[in-house]
Amino acid sequence: MYDAIIFDNDGVLTELTDRTVIRDAVCKAFEAFDVTNPSDEHVAALSIGVTIDRLERVCSEYDLSPTAFWEQRDTNSSRAQQAEIRAGRKPLYDDIEAVWSLEHPRGIVSSNQHATIECIIDHFELDGRFETYYGRKPTIEHVRKKKPNPYFIERAMADLESENALYVGDSESDIRAAENSGIDSAFIRRSHRSDTLLSTEPTYEIDDLWELEALVS
Ligand SMILES: [Mg+2]
Repeated sequence: MYDAIIFDNDGVLTELTDRTVIRDAVCKAFEAFDVTNPSDEHVAALSIGVTIDRLERVCSEYDLSPTAFWEQRDTNSSRAQQAEIRAGRKPLYDDIEAVWSLEHPRGIVSSNQHATIECIIDHFELDGRFETYYGRKPTIEHVRKKKPNPYFIERAMADLESENALYVGDSESDIRAAENSGIDSAFIRRSHRSDTLLSTEPTYEIDDLWELEALVS
């Protein structure tokens, strides 16, 4: 019944990035604008789950251009994560093998930077394993378009000529993005999500990628 399967990346295909790596990248972005002692709260606010409102609020505190700051922050964040990938600290999960046995066309839609996803495709030699993949460019426009916005899932579905895809993710924003795209979702409850409570209901809940085959065949 599904004509394609689209995956979130972080926490689904590859392990999460160590939070201190993103935090350091944010601190370096502040340093690039001569802010040497940003508050912990502001660094945290621009590390994960960043929204336009939050970005504008923090940048106004330091009289920074949100556009310029964000480009620096996101470029730093991607470079730091690429170093982590190459150093073996952000590996693919072992059950990635289950994905290769699925016959469906496959895509990736991530809220990580597109450059980070490109590095993953290159480093793990996944070219040809996924027919399409999207991450964000380091722009404010793409912060607006990240999940739960359906924008990138819809682009991936168009690329895959899919009318009924399944989206696999490990976050509430993934489930909401699938809902907003009008498609089913599978929430993968890996160990880092053992205590996660969702305020919206995924179509399926799975423990690992091996459980996908029974859902889609
Ligand atoms: Mg994720």
